[in-house]
Amino acid sequence: MSSNHTCIVCKGSKEEVALISFEYKEHSYHICPQHIPILIHSPEKLKGLIPGAENFEAADS
Ligand SMILES: [Zn+2]
Repeated sequence: MSSNHTCIVCKGSKEEVALISFEYKEHSYHICPQHIPILIHSPEKLKGLIPGAENFEAADS
């Protein structure tokens, strides 16, 4: 099954929001501009949304 073109956080589709794609571990994912700050500043919140995100750490320490 090909990856869904929806934001990994809010599940907004490309018909509803602009989607930016990124890759992690051979998979590509999509995220909307509203949720990019999570990816940048709070990647640990992506646990459960991206396999392997358990390894993500908070950016500011
Ligand atoms: Zn979103």
